[in-house]
Amino acid sequence: MSRRWPLWVELTVVFVLVAGLALTGGGFLLLKRVERQSLAEQAETVLGQGAIVAHRVSVWHRAPGTDTLPLILYRFHQETGIRPVYVDRTHTALADSWDPSPLAGQTLSHPELARALAGEASTGVRRLPGGARVMYGAVPVRQNGEIAGALLLSADLAPVDSALWELTQQLLLAALAAGVVAVALALGFARTLSAPLVRLSQAAGALAGGRLETRVQPGGSLELRDLGESFNQMADDLGRLDRQRRAFVADASHELRTPVAAIRALAEPLLTDTRGDLALYKEHLSDIVHECDRSARLVERLLDLARLDARQELSAAPAEAVDLSEALSAVVHELQPLARKRNVSLELDAPPVGARLDVRLLEAVVGNLVENAVKYTPAGGQVRVSVTPGDREAVIRVSDTGRGIPPEHLPHIFERFYRVDKARARATGGTGLGLAIASEAAALLGGRISVSSEVGKGSTFTFTLPM
Ligand code: ADP
Repeated sequence: MSRRWPLWVELTVVFVLVAGLALTGGGFLLLKRVERQSLAEQAETVLGQGAIVAHRVSVWHRAPGTDTLPLILYRFHQETGIRPVYVDRTHTALADSWDPSPLAGQTLSHPELARALAGEASTGVRRLPGGARVMYGAVPVRQNGEIAGALLLSADLAPVDSALWELTQQLLLAALAAGVVAVALALGFARTLSAPLVRLSQAAGALAGGRLETRVQPGGSLELRDLGESFNQMADDLGRLDRQRRAFVADASHELRTPVAAIRALAEPLLTDTRGDLALYKEHLSDIVHECDRSARLVERLLDLARLDARQELSAAPAEAVDLSEALSAVVHELQPLARKRNVSLELDAPPVGARLDVRLLEAVVGNLVENAVKYTPAGGQVRVSVTPGDREAVIRVSDTGRGIPPEHLPHIFERFYRVDKARARATGGTGLGLAIASEAAALLGGRISVSSEVGKGSTFTFTLPM
């Protein structure tokens, strides 16, 4: 990308260009119009006055009095400022307002004269070698209905041209003033426009540099205000994600350290033991294996979560056609040994329901819900998994007759590492990650999990799955 100019320069150039174009275009049209109008008026005057002098000349033809023809023409010139030259039918100059006429005897070839001798009065504008413009006009002179000659009239256009020049100067002055106003406006406008942008850009730099508490004061136009608010929202989200990440790393380290410390505590006495008590060895080693299993399970869960987090970035999950009842029966089948071991009955009630989804995500949701139900239900209790198919969604319920969850804990149980009863959960081998995994997998399937529970009676987890 090539380097661009600052906003104020770009705006100034645009404003000045627009103002300049509008004024020069408009000015040019105005000048042309005024010029056309002035010339038309001048032509009217020349032809009107020409008709008068033509009449005088034809009267003179009929009854030449004491006035000579040059005197008539001289007076006309004095009265009107229009110089007349009288020519005969052969285009030869006969008389002029000057006596003796410097043109006398010359053949004049003005096209207006040719038209006048053909009976038509007309005018034309020409530029003299010195640069000044002159309007020529010619009118026929009649005698007894016949064309006897024509009068060539020339009017100086200097007054018209100087009026036009004056107008041009005024327009240029106005353009200059407009240019100054345009620059001032552009500068002011650019400042109001760019100030919030500059603030945003600085804030984005600070945020990128790791100062996650950076916020901006939204300001400027509606769009910039929106942008500022979105920036603050993004900074909030980033801050929240960062806090979650830190908390997660701290919790995960803590959880991983616990079994390691336990293993050490179990192994140490064996090292210093001098009695060689085999039973003691077996007991400690069995505990060590137990702790190893726990930490292996924890690591596996952390990996599950990491995989789900990564999946969230890939929007489309690989979907396949499955029968919900078959998929659920596989999950239940896998957990039957645990249920038997804990003396809890585990049943599935699911009619065949076809769906298209990623079956591993479904297993992650229902597997964790059923495992919890079995884990938190005392011996002799029941766990039931059921499916209610619907047009738009299927509802999968996992209900148990277990110990239930106190209401104050309900809003938190889906958080990572959250356990209602830490000590008891450790005894059951809980990691506090099962429901977090279930709810992330549910979200990836486009569904949601809700829970209702009564302490001492049991809990029902409801997974609503869009079809
Ligand atoms: P854990 O690995 O500890 O089971 P979870 O995230 O699966 O972690 O569950 C979080 C907490 O919610 C558990 O520690 C437990 O206290 C509570 N819980 C979850 N399911 C049930 C249930 N069916 N009955 C009672 N309590 C439950």
